[in-house]
Amino acid sequence: MQRKTVAVLGWLFCLGLFAPAGLAQSFDIVKVADGVYAAIGHAGVFSNGAFIVNQDDVLVVDAHLRPSWAKDLIAEIRKTTNKPVRYVVNTHWHNDHVQGNQAYVSVFGASVEYIAQHTAREDMVSKAVSAVKDQLNKDVPERIARTEKMLAEGKGPDGTPLADQARASLSERVASDKSFIEELKAIQITLPTITFERSLVLHKSERTIHVLFFGKGHTRGDAVVYLPKEKVVITGDLLTNGISFMRDAYPSQWIGTLDSVRNLDWETAVTGHGGVQKGKEQIDRLLAYMKEMVAAVKESIGKGMTLEEAKKAIDLSKHQAGFPAYAANPQGFVAASGSAVERTWAELTGKIRD
Ligand SMILES: [Zn+2]
Repeated sequence: MQRKTVAVLGWLFCLGLFAPAGLAQSFDIVKVADGVYAAIGHAGVFSNGAFIVNQDDVLVVDAHLRPSWAKDLIAEIRKTTNKPVRYVVNTHWHNDHVQGNQAYVSVFGASVEYIAQHTAREDMVSKAVSAVKDQLNKDVPERIARTEKMLAEGKGPDGTPLADQARASLSERVASDKSFIEELKAIQITLPTITFERSLVLHKSERTIHVLFFGKGHTRGDAVVYLPKEKVVITGDLLTNGISFMRDAYPSQWIGTLDSVRNLDWETAVTGHGGVQKGKEQIDRLLAYMKEMVAAVKESIGKGMTLEEAKKAIDLSKHQAGFPAYAANPQGFVAASGSAVERTWAELTGKIRD
């Protein structure tokens, strides 16, 4: 890829704007074991899901940002089976994993059970509901306005003229965001009907499905779905192809949680974002990054540095090449690492309130 193209893609990624949102298909469906499928979100959809076909029913993991995308996944499930979806597991409360919940009850009726760790349910009540209003009244209209301004001026945020590819992508984004506004007006967060503390096991005739909580990490209530027979783990955002969003994270505790996920006996990981992972290389890279990052923040606090001094001094750049998410977006690694250091600092200095 040419250098200039990389730069343009870089700021489109940064703005969350690299989104061929007009694609008819929202997911790549990847069979990872008999009856077990990953739904890898396309660039505009971004967050992944999974579905597990049992003898009498289907279990879905995560429900994306838009009910229309959840319906796209239902259409994909329909190509594989006409058994009903009876369970939806939300790996955590973030809106890009729960806002599509209502699609399942609308298609399959009130018998659908929604499963989450109990603090994830609390956070859906206290945070995800208000975040829908914020998206509707502020975030998405402001993004539309910013994008329309760029299109009107014919310039990207760094002042460079828009190439045809970028212009087309931005125009698609505006159209997609406008239809998202219409969806947001009708989104009511469908809450978990079954919650658990540490583990919940579904004993189906052909497999057991473990829904497990190992401690705080990406949020305070991350669940992983583990299939011991198939050696598959579905991780939500505890593991992605990059450094997951840190705003609600507990980075120092994430290490122990991630170690527990790693120590399960699995060969395939379906993660919250990015492609299917075979083997444990990526989780090992994330663990190595997190351990070094947290240790560096601890050391900086011990030396009496300020957060700003620590952010300047901590150099994590040797880890960048280990994250596929930043291959076309090197500045994304720098931004994610800055957030990681800030959030770790807040955690270790007792500034995070549950
Ligand atoms: Zn998340």
